[in-house]
Amino acid sequence: MLTLAKILKATPRDVITRANTQCSVRIVKSIYDIDANGEHKFVLGNVKATDGNRVAAIKFYQLNKKNLVNSEVWVYCSCPYHKYYCEVALAHYGSTSIIESNGKYPFVNNSRLVPFTCKHIAALARKAPTVRAVKAKTSRITSQEIELMLKQIGPLIKGL
Ligand SMILES: [Zn+2]
Repeated sequence: MLTLAKILKATPRDVITRANTQCSVRIVKSIYDIDANGEHKFVLGNVKATDGNRVAAIKFYQLNKKNLVNSEVWVYCSCPYHKYYCEVALAHYGSTSIIESNGKYPFVNNSRLVPFTCKHIAALARKAPTVRAVKAKTSRITSQEIELMLKQIGPLIKGL
């Protein structure tokens, strides 16, 4: 798994610029939770961009880091850029899951598997490390999370 700092460093400068100039972030949820990879802070955001609204998420797994930008992360975004350029590369490093793409090796888009991210996750990354989080059980599940879970379960169901 890669740190958020490492992913942002690998991200093209123009993507970071678009994150800073075209995106506004509303935090939907920020909780401390646990999954197969361990304890983490899960931050889910609606990212409003000039070309549409997306759902983005970051999970921070190294909660002992003073600045969570230096924590290993798992990320997700609903946009096509993440699907076509980032998902397989980030999944190769364990920093996302195959949700939107077919998971096949990208011969055309980012064939070197550089672990960069999209403007939405880069925009969420500005707020996510420092936003306050509550304990999971005090928080209600959101419609965006249900949609994301169904997408993750979908391929498994199709395989039955
Ligand atoms: Zn995105």
